[in-house]
Amino acid sequence: MSEKAIVIEAPGGPQQLKLVDVEVGAPGPGEIRIRHEACGLNYIDVYHRNGTYALPLPARLGMEGAGVVEAVGEGVTHLKPGDRAAYASNPPGAYATARVMPAKCVLKLPEAISFETGAAMMLKGLTVQYLLRKTLPQGGLQPGDHVLFHAAAGGVGLIACQWARALGLQLIGTAGSDEKCQLALEHGAAHAINYRRDVDFAAKVREITAGRGVKVVYDSVGADTWEGSLNSLAPFGLLASFGGASGPVPPFSVGTLAAKGSLYVTRPTLFTHIATHEATQAMGDELFGMVASGQVKIRIDQRYALSDAARSHRDLEARQLLGSAVLLP
Ligand code: NDP
Repeated sequence: MSEKAIVIEAPGGPQQLKLVDVEVGAPGPGEIRIRHEACGLNYIDVYHRNGTYALPLPARLGMEGAGVVEAVGEGVTHLKPGDRAAYASNPPGAYATARVMPAKCVLKLPEAISFETGAAMMLKGLTVQYLLRKTLPQGGLQPGDHVLFHAAAGGVGLIACQWARALGLQLIGTAGSDEKCQLALEHGAAHAINYRRDVDFAAKVREITAGRGVKVVYDSVGADTWEGSLNSLAPFGLLASFGGASGPVPPFSVGTLAAKGSLYVTRPTLFTHIATHEATQAMGDELFGMVASGQVKIRIDQRYALSDAARSHRDLEARQLLGSAVLLP
């Protein structure tokens, strides 16, 4: 039976996203075949579409989804046909009615979590898990510590606000409008800065922290925030640069890190953290626990038909979205 998938023939704007007929075969060893109920929209999909992260062409898109397992290949023991499942995956291919994919990154979805929520939370929630639980300054983070989290009203951002509150952290969120700042505060940010109005957000961070600065900056905005992020850190602070929604981080001299107080910089990616099934399951169990307990609620404000993927990308790049968005096959 023919299925539908979004494919790009060449990198470029949202108009490159084409819904086409594809054949989805049987799973090979270590693979499963999944029928999607929903797919997550992520900023990394934009990097894949526009060529910032180059993919072999023609390419499928989408790295987050949820649905029902239809078949499992040889050697797959943690899933069986009929299981509800969700994943954050590399390689991409979630923008599709069904796909064959590596089983190691697919987890059983608890009954209490809906398919839409599962599709909206895996890549984003596992990212927040590794950022707040594993990407830490010297000495770790203690309740009461200040951290700065950019784009705090986005998909990753709203999960981070809530998870940070659960950990007792004082999260200072930045966002691009007063409405988004309010949303970040409602989800657990202790403070919010509209960095389109207060362009010198580092000065605000110093005010909030009585001049000390924060222990960690989690920065997915990149080019526009890099300098201010460094200027927001306390001595020995850590800048976790995990994305570049405004463009890549400019080249910098390591001497800057000495001048600004023996700082640390890391450039982590989720896919190093979920390289094995065991690691993915352990991180996923923690995420499922946060969601099942209600400490983290996944806010889905936007739903698009799969055939409308181009519009979802336009809205995401125009900074119009709040929280998470899903595509529905
Ligand atoms: P978001 O929903 O957060 O959308 C991106 C947000 O970035 C926008 O809403 C906007 O918020 C902000 N932004 C700032 N400047 C720009 C700009 N010039 N153009 C567009 N947006 C801008 O996306 P996601 O939740 O999907 O992802 C958040 C970030 O985390 C992305 O950069 C993504 O690549 C990164 N990421 C990294 C991972 C990793 O492991 N390294 C894994 C998962 C995500 P505002 O208007 O409030 O500024």
